[in-house]
Amino acid sequence: MTAHATHDVRALEAEHLLQIYKRLPVVFVRGEGMHLIDDTGRRYLDFLSGIGVASLGHAHPALARAVAEQASTLIHTSNLYFHPLQGELAARLTRLTGLDRVFLCNSGTEANEACLKFARRYWHGRAETGRTKFVAFRHSFHGRTMGSLSVTWDPHYREPFAPLVPDVKFASAAEPWLLDAIVDEDTAAIIIEPVQGEGGVRPISKELVAAIHAARARTGALVIADEVQSGSGRTGAFLGGQLVGLSPDLVALGKALGAGVPVGAAVLKQPVADALSPGDHGTTYGGNLLACRAALLFLDELEGGLLQSIRRVASHLAARLRDLALKHPDVVKEVRGAGLIAALDLAFDAQPVVTAAFERGLLVNRTATTVVRLLPPFIVTEADVDEAVTVLDAALDAATARGASR
Ligand code: PLP
Repeated sequence: MTAHATHDVRALEAEHLLQIYKRLPVVFVRGEGMHLIDDTGRRYLDFLSGIGVASLGHAHPALARAVAEQASTLIHTSNLYFHPLQGELAARLTRLTGLDRVFLCNSGTEANEACLKFARRYWHGRAETGRTKFVAFRHSFHGRTMGSLSVTWDPHYREPFAPLVPDVKFASAAEPWLLDAIVDEDTAAIIIEPVQGEGGVRPISKELVAAIHAARARTGALVIADEVQSGSGRTGAFLGGQLVGLSPDLVALGKALGAGVPVGAAVLKQPVADALSPGDHGTTYGGNLLACRAALLFLDELEGGLLQSIRRVASHLAARLRDLALKHPDVVKEVRGAGLIAALDLAFDAQPVVTAAFERGLLVNRTATTVVRLLPPFIVTEADVDEAVTVLDAALDAATARGASR
């Protein structure tokens, strides 16, 4: 594609596509490992992986082979029939999570939607039909469908679509001692991101985990871990919650699990699974052969050495970001993260830094206004980290200079 074609791409979108995304002015046409390449041939170091999705980087040879082979064999049959890969993927996911049963779907929001429905179904099956309340947390993000949106904190996302699922209460993750007063015998489930992603990269504390477990012990409320962003190995553990001892009854997975092919999963304990019968929930696409093949290949790579590499590179990343914070004490208020989800919380709006990094060929993004978020592919190396930190250093200088000259 030529630069002229870029113009056509944008004009065509502007005319026909629903205008709900603010895109940066670039058209990507190819990927290679840690890099994305635009239509002029310019290379960008990808420290965002399509918002935590391209876990094996781009055009990963083994993934490309597996997906191509699957596409030329069989892509989709529906859930009316058996195929060889769903059971295999479910067995891997139950082993890795320590839970018992898997429902396969296509996205993070669907995985959460399933968890919320399964929690309601569980109490309905026990004739506790009034037990419908969900407790979520401030700064949470769980997705855009009605159920997931209802437990998403940011009023800008929620309010234009009201009325949503009723009976949702938001607790403060920073004040675990207040949870006790919010979770009661009417609570169907507590839903928590072990590392809040969109909300600004905030890992939960052990104190909050203890409060959640205590609330469950007292009331019986189920615990849903939304591991869509923090799970599938991103933190160096298979589930982010495993780092702080969270023991959920249901887990939602997505993003990195399909390495770019849309895959979501709800993984649950047997007593919850026992409440569900054929017809209670379902999906046309979920768990098709293409999706399962991609997820299985991803898990092969993850368990074949990638998890160790994530932990090693992540500690280098954390150390380099701390150095960066020391070098820019007036700008970087805090470095947060767990494994390969990391953030610089700034003293001002992070967009100028994200833009300056982009202009220098590094992809990161802004979340929660002041946060520069890094979600690199799991194949990232120490050398990639050094390169990214050098660019971020320059981007922080450039954004501060721009701000000062205004
Ligand atoms: N849950 C969390 C924690 C997320 O970060 C996201 C997406 O950013 C979602 C759910 C929604 O996932 P999806 O966009 O695949 O529906």
